[in-house]
Amino acid sequence: MDRNQQLFERARQRIPGGVNSPVRAFRAVGGTPRFVARAEGAWFWDANGQRYIDYIGSWGPMILGHGHPAVLEAVQQAARDGFSFGAPTEREVQLAEAIVALVPSMEMVRLVSSGTEAAMSAIRLARGATGRAKIIKFEGCYHGHADALLVKAGSGLATFGHPTSAGVPPEVAQHTLVLEYNNLEQLEEAFALHGPQLACLMIEPIAGNMNFVRASVPFMQRCRELCSRHGALLVFDEVMTGLRVGLGSAQGLYARAIPGFRPDLTVMGKVIGGGMPLAAFGGPRAVMEQLAPLGPVYQAGTLSGNPVATACGLATLQEISQPGFFEALSARTRSLVDGLAAAARAEGVAFSADCEGGMFGFFLLPQLPQNYGAVMKTDGTRFNRLFHGLLERGVYIAPALYEAGFVSSAHSEDDIALTVAAAREVFRTLAA
Ligand SMILES: *Cc1c(COP(=O)(O)O)cnc(C)c1O
Repeated sequence: MDRNQQLFERARQRIPGGVNSPVRAFRAVGGTPRFVARAEGAWFWDANGQRYIDYIGSWGPMILGHGHPAVLEAVQQAARDGFSFGAPTEREVQLAEAIVALVPSMEMVRLVSSGTEAAMSAIRLARGATGRAKIIKFEGCYHGHADALLVKAGSGLATFGHPTSAGVPPEVAQHTLVLEYNNLEQLEEAFALHGPQLACLMIEPIAGNMNFVRASVPFMQRCRELCSRHGALLVFDEVMTGLRVGLGSAQGLYARAIPGFRPDLTVMGKVIGGGMPLAAFGGPRAVMEQLAPLGPVYQAGTLSGNPVATACGLATLQEISQPGFFEALSARTRSLVDGLAAAARAEGVAFSADCEGGMFGFFLLPQLPQNYGAVMKTDGTRFNRLFHGLLERGVYIAPALYEAGFVSSAHSEDDIALTVAAAREVFRTLAA
């Protein structure tokens, strides 16, 4: 009796595709999604009682693993004090202060409930603050599912984008210019053509929604210079990378390479909520004070700054701020990535990988790709064989080749060793 199969069939009767977010349906890799019954540390158990080493961690938030005692305690205490008030609480202030202390480009923050909401609000704020309508985004970057962001490139740089989803009016997509990631020439041309109309450029500094692709330092430096010169805001979408690649987030990495570097606005989510629905956007006081109730840009939320979610986020931030936390996490992630690379090499399988902090990506390609087109050249069939081979051996990676992976502080050397051994067995079948 396969309980996953039974639950999936029941789910499909009442929930479109059986899931509440598309990638969970395993459409890219085929097979039956695993319904999670419970989780602890680095593992979860599915509806059949099968155990998996979890490299998704709720797509990033579970940086401490599942059920960390300090976080669990904070959440239980907060729940006893009340689920939601629709009135301010001290923990919102503490969380805002904690975020600002870690990410200096954010002088003020507004808390919301999802990354989608945060990115959508940041764009409205950028448009309100600049009085301009046009925005730049990059192919392969995901910023949630707001209408203006579900857009693909038009026929050339003089034309704006087309919707990638039904239900998005072309008029909405018309204000979005979609460029190739890491392509300096296109960037220059876009600003030369549209500079005075641009409200913002939004970017994932390490694109985790095309697996793992870094924006090169010269590319990021040029994004910064062009935005400043043309009066557009540089918006960092750090929903995935924020407090995941390091305490200073991805912007901290670029600031090390480019003196004085900082984005104008930052969008956060995932880790700052520790697994609860919580996200944020923030930036300089002068821009943030354009928001209601102080300024003309409207933004609101019934559950924003939710007391249980903020307790979860605060307890998570407290743990990851301990001395040595990120050094240990980075070393663990590095040992996974190096182990996988060695296993692939031993079996003669083309492989490349990268990681930062507790985030990693790998490709069945000899070299790391630099943009979405190159990521999509990966052989999907081989990836699917790898995915299912690992799954059968109790290792759960993202069910699509364009998704990043996540290591938590709960992953042990034994978990890594089991994973690498499983991968080597699967690589052998791929090479054959
Ligand atoms: C996950 C993600 C989002 C969307 O966040 P949700 O909470 O799923 O709405 C936005 N941007 C990036 C970079 C993400 O990884």
